[in-house]
Amino acid sequence: MLESLNVVDLTQPLGPDTVMWPGAPQPVMQTVLTVAHDGFYNRLVTVVEHTGTHFDAPCHMVEGGMSADQIPPDRLFRPLAVIDISAELDGDPDGVLTLAQVHAFEAAHGRIPDGAAVFLRTGWEEFNTDPARYANAPGPLRFPGFGAESARFLVEQRHVAGLGTDTLGIDTGAATDFVVHRQISHPRGVWHVENLQNLKAVPPLGAWVVVGVMKLVDGSGGPARVLALVP
Ligand SMILES: [Zn+2]
Repeated sequence: MLESLNVVDLTQPLGPDTVMWPGAPQPVMQTVLTVAHDGFYNRLVTVVEHTGTHFDAPCHMVEGGMSADQIPPDRLFRPLAVIDISAELDGDPDGVLTLAQVHAFEAAHGRIPDGAAVFLRTGWEEFNTDPARYANAPGPLRFPGFGAESARFLVEQRHVAGLGTDTLGIDTGAATDFVVHRQISHPRGVWHVENLQNLKAVPPLGAWVVVGVMKLVDGSGGPARVLALVP
């Protein structure tokens, strides 16, 4: 089975220069022990939970929602659909995934399996080392995202386990009301992964995803290693 699988890493490197949500502190990596002096190399790492490629647990925006440690493991290993709208967006930082685009995806590639994870490729993954492009810094935050209609369809009609994106967030950057987070996904226990990359290396349907989020007690989310298993 392993020989027939290509493992694609959808994870950004996490370091002091990782592009953050505006206002969030940069990661701090502090070397506390070295092999030369102490016999061990070890660091003290300080990161906010929503850093780099990371998981949003439902409790991130819904009081009483599941925390990162409470997500059943089978919800983190899912069939994966990748909807690529980068060509249609053509760099539009306010664009959204529309319901019509979801229907067009299914017409072209087949029905999104019930309980799948659905990851959106906007093309922003190409800019994720450049805060000016990725977060529109130092201007107001702008990047494309899921539209409310498409998210509602995926959550209510396809019963997705999770949503993912190659931007800083599932809702658009300009959104201040976080409609998808607050009203559509998290209230139904749907998780998110944000700041994915390498989505162009994954087929529209047929792959699986493993979301290796840290099992943080009471975690609102956490850095995650996200791997696509492509047959
Ligand atoms: Zn987050």
